Amino acid sequence: MPQTETPSRHGLVILYTGNGKGKTTAALGLVMRAWGHGLRCCVIQFIKSERGRWGETLAAERMGIAWHALGEGFTWQSEDLARDRAKAEEGWALAQAEILSGNHDLIVLDEFTYPLRYGWLDVRTVVDWLRTHRPPEMHLLVTGRDAIDELMELSDLITEMRAIKHPYDTGLAAQRGIEF
Ligand code: ATP
Ligand code: MG
Repeated sequence: MPQTETPSRHGLVILYTGNGKGKTTAALGLVMRAWGHGLRCCVIQFIKSERGRWGETLAAERMGIAWHALGEGFTWQSEDLARDRAKAEEGWALAQAEILSGNHDLIVLDEFTYPLRYGWLDVRTVVDWLRTHRPPEMHLLVTGRDAIDELMELSDLITEMRAIKHPYDTGLAAQRGIEF
């Protein structure tokens, strides 16, 4: 039930992790809920390639949501570790700037567990920075598989998506509006 009084704001660190599908879409569902209440939202996607015909980027454009996709993102099969590391640092610098900007009430760092898991960013440094710099009333939502202990410690809310069935397992193709 919607509350009639505005409750006091306490920023949460939220983590959607696990091997099941739904982490990014759950994050975007939360963005939609927050946006409906006039919260200013920002999404930074660490993996998604270009700002192309993804349904969510098309929606974000219409909703006026700040949105960053980090170009080609990571290619963790690539031999070019220096490039992956540089890309991760670029994304993290952008995230820091957005967190400090005062322009957002909810920031989503989509697929942010990967640069931490792959060691392109130092987990301790990142988590310590978040602990000391995140405005206390700002919500921060991280998605990605293989969450790291330090990040889980920092989080107030963690949900693990568990894969039970996925249409790819039976050879079904990606469906528009469901996958992209
Ligand atoms: P979504 O963006 O649909 O919410 P997600 O963020 O939970 O998914 P990711 O781990 O980011 O999932 O993976 C992205 C891609 O991997 C998606 O195309 C998704 O359908 C696919 N995927 C996710 N879980 C599985 C699974 N258990 N088996 C096969 N493919 C999967
Ligand atoms: Mg995802």
